[in-house]
Amino acid sequence: MRLYSYDDYQVGVGVPDGGIVRATQFLPDVPPRDRMTALIERWERLREPIADLVTGATPIDLASVRLLPPQPHPGLLIAAPVNYRRHQQEMGGESGVYPGMVVHTIETYAGFVKASSSIVGPDDAIELPFEDRRVDHEAELGVVIGATASRVHRDRAMDYVFGYVPLLDITLRGDEDRSYRKSFDTFTPIGPAIVTRDAVPGADALDFRLTVNGDIRQRANTRDLIYGISRLVELYSAAMTLHAGDIIATGTPEGVGPISPGDEVVLRIDEVGELRMPVTLRKALTVNRQDQPAIRGLS
Ligand code: MN
Repeated sequence: MRLYSYDDYQVGVGVPDGGIVRATQFLPDVPPRDRMTALIERWERLREPIADLVTGATPIDLASVRLLPPQPHPGLLIAAPVNYRRHQQEMGGESGVYPGMVVHTIETYAGFVKASSSIVGPDDAIELPFEDRRVDHEAELGVVIGATASRVHRDRAMDYVFGYVPLLDITLRGDEDRSYRKSFDTFTPIGPAIVTRDAVPGADALDFRLTVNGDIRQRANTRDLIYGISRLVELYSAAMTLHAGDIIATGTPEGVGPISPGDEVVLRIDEVGELRMPVTLRKALTVNRQDQPAIRGLS
């Protein structure tokens, strides 16, 4: 099934012809941004009634709603650094993104946390905070956790995976810490829907590609992940308890590159979906600009 968040944090399920059927009525009274987490936590009980709903209901047209990030408020958004070999090669070396720097892989770096406030959805835009600094696209498969996972062995890890979502790990290049450079508002677009695990049996060998203004920049397959989905769940759950609704960004393949205002970035992952995001410059600062010339949009 495909699960959406829309309008005022309603949750809904996709129907085959492309519409949505509202499912919020199945949920208890939780803060609206936590509804998708509540749905995931109750999925074993709700899966059947929601499937029944789809067969009888009149769907809402997708074009008539404002799509939100399908999981607007994960407790944890953790990401895999350098989890494809050819991405390692393009980052270091003479002509790399960071020339001369020795770049290791996930086997060394393990993971980093992005602010969950950086998440936006398919009806938003990627907002560049600087006019004069490089910001890159990173195409990634997002994994949504389905149940509390602590010290889970890789052989059982898939039991804790709820589903998948197209995810962009937008990244400011520079000397700041990763957690800062990748956590600006709008730097984690996800969507349009979370696709449940049962609908993506081949998640370990998915083709995906990213275009900018129609030009292919990244094309890869998840079989080339250094740490696949099961090992990522094992690695992160060994360190920190994962909870329903948490998201793992599995890492980007080679082909990362800069984006500019006016661009359109499209990430398409087989069986999971297509995420289409415009790029804008963050609205200009009107006060105190002289104090922080490099940062736009301070209030
Ligand atoms: Mn990344």
